[in-house]
Amino acid sequence: MSAYVLVVEDEVDIAALVAYHLARESYRVRTVDDGVAALRTMDAERPDLVVLDLMLPSLSGLDVLREMRQRQDLEAVPVILLTARKEEQDRIEGLQLGADDYVPKPFSPRELVLRVGAVLRRVQQQPPADSGGRLLRTGPVAVDTGAAVARVEGHPLDLTPTEFRLLMVLVERRGRVQSRRQLLESAWDTTADITTRTVDMHVQRLRRKLGPAAGWLETVRGFGYRFRTEPPGQG
Ligand code: CA
Repeated sequence: MSAYVLVVEDEVDIAALVAYHLARESYRVRTVDDGVAALRTMDAERPDLVVLDLMLPSLSGLDVLREMRQRQDLEAVPVILLTARKEEQDRIEGLQLGADDYVPKPFSPRELVLRVGAVLRRVQQQPPADSGGRLLRTGPVAVDTGAAVARVEGHPLDLTPTEFRLLMVLVERRGRVQSRRQLLESAWDTTADITTRTVDMHVQRLRRKLGPAAGWLETVRGFGYRFRTEPPGQG
């Protein structure tokens, strides 16, 4: 079954161009031209991925993303933002809200199609059901790689696929500092032009979701991140 991609873009020419290139790679594509219609369309059928323009009439791209991340049925749907150069602040906010990637305008449609493929591969890699998952534990954090579930003090965390992979990689390599570049390569499965800044945004979000265990994920200034093997404040 081909993946279903929803393209939310009010500039008709851009939407048509993106749809054309995605359809040529055999994706199933729908386009909508405003934020309210986007959410309504997602209600009718859950997309496998959303390409989301930031500047939209009625409801902005950020509003759509915020709404998606608050809804259980849409929380894990990957999102690629289309952003204009002058929207840097919005782009950062979008990554903080849990967008998986962004493509600055003007963009090459072929590059966007490659990004779509990369994000979908990452998501689909998620539960390695047949690999007899492992249970990784450190302090209050337990990561069940088979079931793709992470828990803090026994309570399951509500993570996006990218956040889960990031946590898994950090816990797997606990005690060792991981550079942003290393995390990008392991958790994102691509080195293509996603900036290391993206890693910082996802780590921030992951830390918030870790709640009482947030202190276990420490920043090593100038190097990257490390998951502790001993409680924060010791060692
Ligand atoms: Ca627009």
